[in-house]
Amino acid sequence: MSQTTSPQGIDAFIAGLPKAELHVHHVGSASPRIVAQLAARHPGAPVPTDPAALAEYFTFRDFAHFIEVYLSVVDLVQDAEDVRLLTYEVARDMARQNIRYAELTVTPYSSTRRGIPDREFCDAIEDARRAAEAELGVVLRWCFDIPGEAGLEAAEETVRIATEVQPAGLVSFGLGGPEIGVARPQFQPYFDRARAAGLHSVPHAGETTGPQTVWDALRHLGAERIGHGTSVVQDPALVDHLGEHRIPLEVCPTSNVATRAVADLDEHPIRRMVEAGLVVTVNSDDPPMFGTDLNTEYAVAARLLGLDEAGVAELAKNAVSVSFLDAPGKAELTASIDTYLANWGS
Ligand SMILES: [Zn+2]
Repeated sequence: MSQTTSPQGIDAFIAGLPKAELHVHHVGSASPRIVAQLAARHPGAPVPTDPAALAEYFTFRDFAHFIEVYLSVVDLVQDAEDVRLLTYEVARDMARQNIRYAELTVTPYSSTRRGIPDREFCDAIEDARRAAEAELGVVLRWCFDIPGEAGLEAAEETVRIATEVQPAGLVSFGLGGPEIGVARPQFQPYFDRARAAGLHSVPHAGETTGPQTVWDALRHLGAERIGHGTSVVQDPALVDHLGEHRIPLEVCPTSNVATRAVADLDEHPIRRMVEAGLVVTVNSDDPPMFGTDLNTEYAVAARLLGLDEAGVAELAKNAVSVSFLDAPGKAELTASIDTYLANWGS
């Protein structure tokens, strides 16, 4: 597709476009504004409170360093009020970008092991979810994910909360954290239980490791979408399989550069994924930590894929289509994207 010719520009189009986000982390969405609010509630934490110092703090050397910094922000979430505040404020940042629907990846284990009771935790996110929908027009759903680095104890706790407490907004079950040294197949029994409880399977795979991790996620964890899948293009058989079964990729371009999973944006395989016929969605992962947001990721994708406004709108509709929103919700959001495109420039 040709580059945009609109005088208003593709960035303005993206900013106003109704969007869905499928791969974004709860704590990882804590903007400097939100981190400062949390830090102010807990004096003495190692996380700086002023925005300039936070930007410096959020500059990562590598993926391991990213995890280290991420966990220091996790430490700021110490009680149910922190959880509620974080969740609602994340939705406020989404509303500003015209994100109308988001599947937020939440790691309940991080909070329950720090002493927040599971039901208090779930009540806090549910309270924020209802308020965000009513007051901000942002529909939130949850993906509860296992922090892979915490092992099988974390897997057990996560699936227990997911299946015993099962808050109303919970739609899926995930696996995050480092991939190197954290084999996917060991988590199969936990995914089996989550899936038996009606949850969708959306593990991270192929972000910092090769295609074998994606195969493992498909075969052992029943993956319905792949978190990242950056390395899939290295394996033609895997690309064929993903294309044939219409298994979407949750692509997060800037994240992949920030964690050094790819060298720079121009090296990102998103174009090869699209050219191979894969279902690609664009997401922000841990946006403030990577100095990005969903609008920026759409602009990056538009540049790398050479999309005009109609192409960007298709990308947004891809995300709605492969989301776990119910059918009426999908129809409504898709229609609002079509209407927005039709009225653009007129
Ligand atoms: Zn992620």
